Amino acid sequence: MLRLNDIVERVNSYLPEADVEVIKRAYVYSAKVHSGQKRSSGESYLGHPLEVAGILADLRLDLSSVVTGLLHDTVEDTLATLDEIEALFGKEVALLVDGVTKISKLPFTSKIEEQAESFRKLFLATAKDIRVVLVKLADRLHNMRTLEYLPEDRQKRISKETLEIYSPLAHRLGIYWMRTELEDLSFRFLNPEEYENISKLIAKKKKEWEKYVESVKGILEKQLIEFGIKAEITGRFKHVYAIYNKMQTQNLEFDQVHDVIAFRIITSSLRECYEVLGAVHSAWKPVPGRFKDYIALPKGNGYQTLHTTVIGPFGERMEVQIRTQRMHEIAEYGIAAHWKYKEGSIEAVESDKIYASLRQLLEWRDIKDPTEFLEAVKGELIPNMVYVFTPKGDLKELPNGVTPVDFAYSIHTEVGNHCTRARVNGKLVPLDYKLRSGDTVEIATLPDKKPSRDWLRFVITSRAKTKIRSWLRTEEREQSKLVGKSICERKFKQHGLDYQKMLKSGELNTPLSELGFKEIDEFYLALGYGKVSVTELLKRILPKERLEGLPEKESMLERIIQTLTRSTNSGVLVKGFDDVMIRFGNCCTPLPGENIVGYITRGRGITIHKHNCSQLLDVDPARKIDVAWDRGFKEPRPARIEVICADRPGILSSITRSIASSDINISKAEIHSTDDERAIGTFEIAVSDLNQLEGVMKSIKRLKGVISVERILGAEEI
Ligand code: MN
Repeated sequence: MLRLNDIVERVNSYLPEADVEVIKRAYVYSAKVHSGQKRSSGESYLGHPLEVAGILADLRLDLSSVVTGLLHDTVEDTLATLDEIEALFGKEVALLVDGVTKISKLPFTSKIEEQAESFRKLFLATAKDIRVVLVKLADRLHNMRTLEYLPEDRQKRISKETLEIYSPLAHRLGIYWMRTELEDLSFRFLNPEEYENISKLIAKKKKEWEKYVESVKGILEKQLIEFGIKAEITGRFKHVYAIYNKMQTQNLEFDQVHDVIAFRIITSSLRECYEVLGAVHSAWKPVPGRFKDYIALPKGNGYQTLHTTVIGPFGERMEVQIRTQRMHEIAEYGIAAHWKYKEGSIEAVESDKIYASLRQLLEWRDIKDPTEFLEAVKGELIPNMVYVFTPKGDLKELPNGVTPVDFAYSIHTEVGNHCTRARVNGKLVPLDYKLRSGDTVEIATLPDKKPSRDWLRFVITSRAKTKIRSWLRTEEREQSKLVGKSICERKFKQHGLDYQKMLKSGELNTPLSELGFKEIDEFYLALGYGKVSVTELLKRILPKERLEGLPEKESMLERIIQTLTRSTNSGVLVKGFDDVMIRFGNCCTPLPGENIVGYITRGRGITIHKHNCSQLLDVDPARKIDVAWDRGFKEPRPARIEVICADRPGILSSITRSIASSDINISKAEIHSTDDERAIGTFEIAVSDLNQLEGVMKSIKRLKGVISVERILGAEEI
């Protein structure tokens, strides 16, 4: 078992001035909370955090990362709490431990495994601090090293996960040695026969290979001395899993895999790389088309090395890679990477950009201080996509800034068109909420719910925009048709004509076609849009003397009234009437829970007002009628509130959060600043009753920076 002192020594070797006391304290704390716990191997649990911390020190990470390694399992597996960790080791360590604990809880279902590539990105996005990923990798590495003590089914599951998520991650982070070790360990448990098989073949060849490497090294060294260059030469063998992969993808036998050995020459300066190349090429003939200058033209991910293949001293093909010590460190340990070397997926392109910028950081900054470096790379790993889950655990990749409405349309047009509420991680949010990676999004739909023009203000995917616009266009046409039809019916009636009967008998066909309409729907539409008037039609039906006094066109008001009175179930019961047309007064917008009264209009049904609405003061009392709220009716009613608050960043979002957390939808929000550094926000919300409205107003009032909250009576302009 690794000892505490080994870790302290390792850290001291690269951070000579670090205060290693904190490592000792973390060790004591970890020993205390894990005491009595055992690993599946039977050893005491403490060995695991120690090994993890040791791996992190091998990676030359900062003090907080090493401390996190010692503490990484405490919150999940013991009685330790994050608060306690923060009190003892500070906020930074607490955040790291929290991040590692969160990653452990990510749902690795079989479905997700199919989407491993996306998941790796989600992983990176969830762990906004790259150290969290590195601690998790170290944790996984040690768990893989001790996997033999677990039952077979768990061995297989964990190995699969490692191969799909963790080893590519190590690869992406450019930690070559960790990637190969994770791959071979996983392969060993997933396919023990093949692993055994190839390992045996390698073992058989090993002596031969080593002899070959030694003799080539000797020749190379001599050659370099002649050129006056000192360089380090190593021969490296492909790892088991890489050989297996090559055999599989190129359908080769073990003996047919030729590039098992590669020579690597590490120089102390860039100039020497080219000198070494000259020396190699002057000794052996290069194979045409195999020379690659990745130093002058680095790979997209920052990988730099000269590659060449020559016909070697024994007539064999021999691969030689030449790089400086610095390039070597970056490729082996650094975040800049080797990773695209044998991978060519499209997904890689975006990451290339990310890692190219990381590489720049590596080149431009002197990274003596790991803390400064990590600080600098923070944020570089966050991709410009968000990864969210459906309630069933399916992963959706959407552009940054998407809202639940975009999400709904990404599932299905119908889900988008009828979406009414959204829950994110179980909490109700406004429809214009900005989704974040890792969110689980649940959309509630109602068959009657329709898209709103407002949505166009906040949706960002073109799919959602197109679908909403197309729905609005169709809806507008339908509305206009209905308005046109009811105008026809009413006007004909005024002239003592039975419109429906005339329509059915075909009596209207000729006059309509004279007006240029083939279908009655076309006429309704034109009528609804105000492009034609019923008078035009009536002129062709009625005798001349009855035409006098007919207006040329219906007024706009008439059409508006027609639209409004097509109300169905309204939530109000009218004494003595079952099915009466009612509408709400725009003057006072009453809510369930408020005393209301009905006003019988001429020919437009009953208007509902608050009992003390000023509009009712001078009306004929005989036209007032008793009405009551229908308790079984649950459809929310609109209400408007005005919030005056200090004009400062984040206040709007805390107000909307407060509204959303009361289970209330916001259908419209506007905010503007005043000259005296205040802001006035107007929110149109949908509430079930007065109680709910008062409740939410109270909770907004309690927010820091809020000066006043008032309800505004009256509806928006129609
Ligand atoms: Mn662990």
